[in-house]
Amino acid sequence: MSDFASRHVGPRGQDRELMLGSVKVRDLDALVARAMPNVISTPPSAKKLPSAATEAEVAAELTEIAANNTIRTSMIGQGFYDTETPAVIRRCVLENPSWYTAYTPYQPEISQGRLEALLNFQTMVSELTAMDIAGASLLDESTAAAEAIALAARTTKRQRIAVDEDLFAQTRAVIETRCHGLDIEIVPVRVDSALDLEGCAGLLVQYPGATGRMMTAAQYRGLADSIHRAGGLFIMVADLLACSIVTPPGELGADIAAGTAQRFGVPMGGGGPHAGYIACQEKLKRNLPGRIVGVSRDSQGNPAYRLALQTREQHIRREKATSNICTAQSLLAIMASMYAVYHGPTGLRSIAERVHGQARALACNLSSLGVRIRYTRFFDTITASVPNKAEVIRAALLEENITVFLVDSDTLRISTDECTKDETRVSVVRAFSRVIEGTNELVDMDQFSLGEEIRRSSDFLPQATFHRYHSETEMMRYMHRLAEKDYALDRGMIPLGSCTMKLNAAVEVSAISYSGFARIHPFAPESDRLGYRRLTQDLEAWLAEITGYDSVSLQPNAGSQGEFAGLLAIRRYHDSKGEKGRRICLIPASAHGTNAASAVMAGFRVVVVKTAKDGSIDLSDLTQKIEDFSGQIGAIMLTYPSTHGTFEPQVVEVTDLVHAAGGQVYIDGANLNALVGYARPGAFGGDVSHLNLHKTFAIPHGGGGPGVGPVAAKSHLAPFLPGFPGGSRHDWPGSGAVSSAPYGSASILPISWAYIRLLGLEGLREATATAVLAANYVAARLEPSIPVLYRGPGGFVGHECILDVRPLKEKYGVTVDDVAKRLIDYGFHAPTMSFPVAGTLMVEPTESESLEELDRFCDAMESIAEEASRVGSEWPADDNPLQGAPHTAHSLLVGGWDHPYSQEVAAYPDALIARKKGRDPEYVHRLIESKYWVPVGRIDAPWGDRNLQCSCPPPEAFED
Ligand SMILES: *Cc1c(COP(=O)(O)O)cnc(C)c1O
Repeated sequence: MSDFASRHVGPRGQDRELMLGSVKVRDLDALVARAMPNVISTPPSAKKLPSAATEAEVAAELTEIAANNTIRTSMIGQGFYDTETPAVIRRCVLENPSWYTAYTPYQPEISQGRLEALLNFQTMVSELTAMDIAGASLLDESTAAAEAIALAARTTKRQRIAVDEDLFAQTRAVIETRCHGLDIEIVPVRVDSALDLEGCAGLLVQYPGATGRMMTAAQYRGLADSIHRAGGLFIMVADLLACSIVTPPGELGADIAAGTAQRFGVPMGGGGPHAGYIACQEKLKRNLPGRIVGVSRDSQGNPAYRLALQTREQHIRREKATSNICTAQSLLAIMASMYAVYHGPTGLRSIAERVHGQARALACNLSSLGVRIRYTRFFDTITASVPNKAEVIRAALLEENITVFLVDSDTLRISTDECTKDETRVSVVRAFSRVIEGTNELVDMDQFSLGEEIRRSSDFLPQATFHRYHSETEMMRYMHRLAEKDYALDRGMIPLGSCTMKLNAAVEVSAISYSGFARIHPFAPESDRLGYRRLTQDLEAWLAEITGYDSVSLQPNAGSQGEFAGLLAIRRYHDSKGEKGRRICLIPASAHGTNAASAVMAGFRVVVVKTAKDGSIDLSDLTQKIEDFSGQIGAIMLTYPSTHGTFEPQVVEVTDLVHAAGGQVYIDGANLNALVGYARPGAFGGDVSHLNLHKTFAIPHGGGGPGVGPVAAKSHLAPFLPGFPGGSRHDWPGSGAVSSAPYGSASILPISWAYIRLLGLEGLREATATAVLAANYVAARLEPSIPVLYRGPGGFVGHECILDVRPLKEKYGVTVDDVAKRLIDYGFHAPTMSFPVAGTLMVEPTESESLEELDRFCDAMESIAEEASRVGSEWPADDNPLQGAPHTAHSLLVGGWDHPYSQEVAAYPDALIARKKGRDPEYVHRLIESKYWVPVGRIDAPWGDRNLQCSCPPPEAFED
């Protein structure tokens, strides 16, 4: 074992032997050989992958790569701005495993900390934009703008959208890609000329415009009136920081506001990840895309948070979902919300004034040199007219270590930000004056004024949370208090099937804070981004080798976005062959919700293929569907190993059938952790796949994001992979942009780079085989008490297994929810619930968990099954440890205890069972002293949906 593999992989030495023995195989390779069908087994070449390096070597290499990025003062703007991440937030959130290793808050009782932080984010967004309701983050500004359009189209049932031309190029590009998928026609407009909005779902304007220009508030209200008269919605893509000093969208007649929270303390990071946001008026809330946190109440009647209105989302609504979003940008939304908590409204206002003041002063300085400033009303961006001199001036600025945005040979755009200093401005003026024959006119600063008319007069963020934590001590404690409430990987295993919650090693995640990776603008000159170039080239090549494909795009910033990009590539490929009728996408009944939602976004019609009794794809149904839709099959989307956790031997047969019918094969790579190093989807029939770097390749889950969902394809689809405006890699617009930056969430790519570099091919194989071993060990140990629903060849499961707890319901009335909540009392995060089979639990232990932790989990599950058997006989159905779970300390201590089970059974069931099993007393003691105390009782989700509240609750909500 390489140095690092022995740290990354949990079971070792004798433990591993014991596990192998319990599943009756000789060694890891023998296990994989028996579990995995021969036909798919095609390992990658060791020559094309790096050999394993030590942690110290990898840290040194990453430092060197980061140093190949040249960090200058960025005044490029265009949606990405330098910002000061308060050190207390960087240290206590970004670099703190309690925050970054948490999972999406689907189990709300153990997620109250991050739910509160996300609720703060929603409050911050709805207050700054003056909109009724905001979601808990989207992927980035450009996709948020596209989601806003889809929302408008869905609401008005119209297929045209008017889009103002003063828009960032990347936002326009993503809108074009998304509208192409949904067959929405884009009507380009100029809001300062006559508008024809007939039949439009909405009018989208950027606020301020890409040129920096702002109009008057009256003009914006006039636009709102025009589109409302035409029966459409007014969408403003608004700068959140600007909103603290200019009239917010909600006061200008906007129905939807969208954008990014990047400049709230989240580094540019070469393009991402950052939290996109969307907010809307009350009437649109049921159509809002993405997750929303809402306030509900727990079993004691106390306020408690949980995800609201989930029936809009892909995991429930599938092809009828409001979007395909699953992983979003939770960690970045949390950082941005903490930035607002730390600065409060007064701080935000003063930062915005400073940014604006610097821009105004710069406009004055440049005009006194004789430079014409194109628009006089701006927030932070000035457009300088410099006929024929733009390139020379840009070069002069580069000598001052400043980068700006070159519009054309006559025009430059310069943006100020939180980090702009007086000296920065002096350097800019110096560079200009080296090129421009300086006049020295006296300039009246007042000519560059926002004007009182558009200044914000309303207050915002009155909520106590945004006023309470302004000293560092208070702030540190607030973030600690929230983290303390949550269950993340730093407490114990998170056995979520399909989510691959493996180790996110410290050495891997450290690199994201290196300034060489963090402080660089995605549109910085190519020669300044050499470090990123090396990193992305390596990663593309390695992932291509691992997956067996020819070409990889790192642009998609979540698995869902990789799916969309891959399906769009299929559609464009068919179109390029004149086969526009191939619009059917076959999807097995057990598929992940994003599959169906993405297929619809890419313009496909979803046709579901049945599941056979053994959990595999029903081949006769597949044949029938192929016949029924002869000549129309565009694609099939398969997950491999299937979401049932098994290696289906007939996968090659399935891909052959679809290919023979003229369709393309999309293999969802979310389960790649069962294949890496042994089998490659591109080699067993796939034409295209997405991977989830935040599952298989060690990027932490961040409490619901960030993620990276690279899309990998065979050469015939490669020309249709994502492109980027101005990019050289793929022809534009032959393919389309799917995110705000050419390499999407570039700054977290070092994590996956490091993961592969640390393990090398041998280590990767060991990780895969151990993940399969761990799942088979759990399946073998639990089989006598809780049946495993599906098994593949040789009776083996893949890297996960479905535990069938439905008999507990039939026999004793104990639901899957009861089991999941009771696991909290045992100190566990529940496995994936009711996916892909309702009423069951899907367990994915990953390679990183030790035998001791796997046994602790199995002990808990066995004990819960035993507890269930006592319900109805020993304990009443409405008063037992399962139905009462999870138990808070408060409920045990205050107001007396009158249940038919003891407090000890309620709170320390793990220690009781360990003692009974004769485990070592030190271990029992450890369970007791490190007990995880859940902060709230079981949460009533429907109540919260009926009484929807999605911003910080008022103090009265906490009254007894
Ligand atoms: C996680 C997952 C996805 C979606 O990935 P996101 O990054 O969350 O968008 C798709 N398919 C499967 C099988 C998954 O497990």
